[in-house]
Amino acid sequence: MSAAFDAVVVGGGPAGSAAARMMASKGYRVGVLEEHSSSGVPTQCAGLVTDEVIRMSGVSPEVYNTLYGAEVVFPDGESLEVCSEWPKAKVVDRAGLDRLMAEAAADAGAEYSYGDRYVSHSVSKDGAFVRSSSGERKCEAVVGADGHSSAVARSLGHNPVKEYVRGVQMDLDVAMDRQDLFRIRIGHRYAPGFFSWEIPCGDFTRVGLCTSWSEGPPYVRLKALVEDCYPGARVIAKYCGKIPLGGRKAIHGERCLLIGDAASQVKPVSGGGLYPALRAAPILAEVLSSALESGDLSARSLSRYDKMCRDDFGKGLDRSYLLRRMYLRMDDDDLSRCGAYSAREDVHSVLNEIDLDDPGKVIRRVAHTPALARGLLLLPRCLI
Ligand SMILES: Cc1cc2nc3c(=O)[nH]c(=O)nc-3n(C[C@H](O)[C@H](O)[C@H](O)COP(=O)(O)OP(=O)(O)OC[C@H]3O[C@@H](n4cnc5c(N)ncnc54)[C@H](O)[C@@H]3O)c2cc1C
Repeated sequence: MSAAFDAVVVGGGPAGSAAARMMASKGYRVGVLEEHSSSGVPTQCAGLVTDEVIRMSGVSPEVYNTLYGAEVVFPDGESLEVCSEWPKAKVVDRAGLDRLMAEAAADAGAEYSYGDRYVSHSVSKDGAFVRSSSGERKCEAVVGADGHSSAVARSLGHNPVKEYVRGVQMDLDVAMDRQDLFRIRIGHRYAPGFFSWEIPCGDFTRVGLCTSWSEGPPYVRLKALVEDCYPGARVIAKYCGKIPLGGRKAIHGERCLLIGDAASQVKPVSGGGLYPALRAAPILAEVLSSALESGDLSARSLSRYDKMCRDDFGKGLDRSYLLRRMYLRMDDDDLSRCGAYSAREDVHSVLNEIDLDDPGKVIRRVAHTPALARGLLLLPRCLI
């Protein structure tokens, strides 16, 4: 058995590397198990992040493009531009981001073990024992950062996420006319239960969509979207993945904490997981380091992590999940009515201010402006 670690982090993605870097920077001995041969592969991401996410990542990934807003296409074919003079998002090289974050954690002292698959762990009063494809490690605590299908999360008992959506994406060798806006299509034709995206990345375009799990494999819908909108385009890369939405019952247990997709810390409306994961990392480092100092790694002691995450960003995710539930109840006519309502000058000017990390702020503004809220009530059946 290897010498003891303070923490073993399972998963060398952005959540795991952020947590590992912060714990290693505080002087703790941290091991990271990553089943693949490097961080960032296979890529399961559109690479769309805000400046704030890049800042929180602590590294400077390659930026393919800067976007000032989106064109939203509604089921009736009408579209609306939501944009501002300040950049709303950047398109980054996501594999490069993961790699750089892992290097930063390793520079801080975290010990990465690649090609090493976590199998299980057990806990006792003396510590946690992590079994992986390379053997067994003793540690004080296990951090589950092992993504959407987290095996560490399953170790906490019956602990399902509320819902998964499936995502699929292609890079096409065509350039979009507008390079300053990405396009979102909502409605049941291409992306029932979610939305599709077309992101300009200079000389190539990233086209993808997610669908509700009950809609079956989404590839056939993406193929239809590409054939309809980009006939003859050559596919230069393909990606797929799933996104956990709605949170998990437990994100902590005895000697164990979950972070990122493993904890279902994902924005339910957009599927963006990097922002919540990077908000959670310093909270995890604070709670885990004080638990290590006090020698109390009980579930009760670590429950502070849930509370702090909830206060920081979790309540926002819960409210967004309610919005998602409403969205799921809308049919295409409802969505088109939303489009017409959003095009009203007073609503549109508020929507232009949207912050992709906190879309709820704009929705709250609409809901709290009496004239706008009255309009909202005329909208979908889901509000009745
Ligand atoms: C199609 C698609 C598009 C997306 N687009 C965006 C976007 O534009 N912006 C955004 O913010 N988010 C996006 N997301 C979500 C985002 O990719 C995730 O939320 C993010 O990757 C979560 O990071 P993580 O570190 O928690 O998990 P992951 O990135 O999944 O990392 C988990 C790591 O754990 C490793 N692992 C898993 N099991 C084991 C094991 N048993 N042993 C050892 N290692 C293991 C995996 O190999 C992986 O490296 C998208 C998701 C999909 C599917």
